[in-house]
Amino acid sequence: MKNLKNSVIHWFLSAGTVFLLTAIVSISVYGQANGVKLDQPGYYRLAIGEIEVIAVSDGTLPIDLLQVLTNTTPKEVNELLADNFQSNPVAVSVNAYLIKLQDKLILVDCGAAELYGPTLGNISTSLKRAGYTPEQIDAILITHIHADHTGGLVSEGKMVFPNADIYISKGEIDFWLDPQGASKRPDLKKSFADAQAKVGPYLKAGKVKAFDSNKELFPGIKPIPSPGHTPGHTFYALENHGEKILFWGDLMHVESVQFANPSVTIAFDVDSEKAAIARKKAYHEAANEGYWVASDHISFPGIGHVKAEKKNYVWVPINYSTYSSGQ
Ligand SMILES: [Zn+2]
Repeated sequence: MKNLKNSVIHWFLSAGTVFLLTAIVSISVYGQANGVKLDQPGYYRLAIGEIEVIAVSDGTLPIDLLQVLTNTTPKEVNELLADNFQSNPVAVSVNAYLIKLQDKLILVDCGAAELYGPTLGNISTSLKRAGYTPEQIDAILITHIHADHTGGLVSEGKMVFPNADIYISKGEIDFWLDPQGASKRPDLKKSFADAQAKVGPYLKAGKVKAFDSNKELFPGIKPIPSPGHTPGHTFYALENHGEKILFWGDLMHVESVQFANPSVTIAFDVDSEKAAIARKKAYHEAANEGYWVASDHISFPGIGHVKAEKKNYVWVPINYSTYSSGQ
């Protein structure tokens, strides 16, 4: 049992104006209240039509929301957390998703690996528990090149997914893999270095597939540009037999706050204003069309529906089921 009381978590933020923020988290990162390490299964299956999708957990990270949420007040954040029986700091999930598409295994994002401390970095373990090894993965669809979505690509300088092609939007590559990037934006120096370290080996090996359209990448899987959080941020839609799920990446980060108030932004946004506009549009569409949503930072498995209520939105988590039509 490891108690990291009063641990200091260094957040290398990637926002437009941002910097290095130090968030002091005065809880034990294992077990939070009582120091008990809570080992969870780390995977969850559902079916979209005839396609199995498996949520895989990278872990959770305690985050001091009062330090990272923007365009809000501590009072609003604390009240919305209390409405959800939570208090600051909050354990925020980091999720990825495995799509079992006919003869291909396709991952959407791949967690943080070692970059954010000991409570994250569990994607390979979660995949193995679900019955798969990283070597079996054929493709990884990256929503954006932030370290908690691409960190898992590389461990100790080696490709964790040696047989996978990595799909990333051209806008995202142009921004984060620009050799001049760090000199243009010194505030994001650490994020540019992480991008090189984690995506670089796949680029060198010719395994990065950059795309700049919303044409299908695989049967039933389409990228949808959603710039704001980062310049090339991308959703992925999976459709099969009349069912649809949209993988949101970092459209939003804190469900207890940002559904009640979609205008609340986060310091990690490269363009907060655009991110808030994208969020409102996506909430509206998801509520209107009623499709499934999978979101990297919503409480694991991060799968559910969005419902419009009064002027705002409500997150409705998936109903647990052990058979495929139990929705
Ligand atoms: Zn993220």
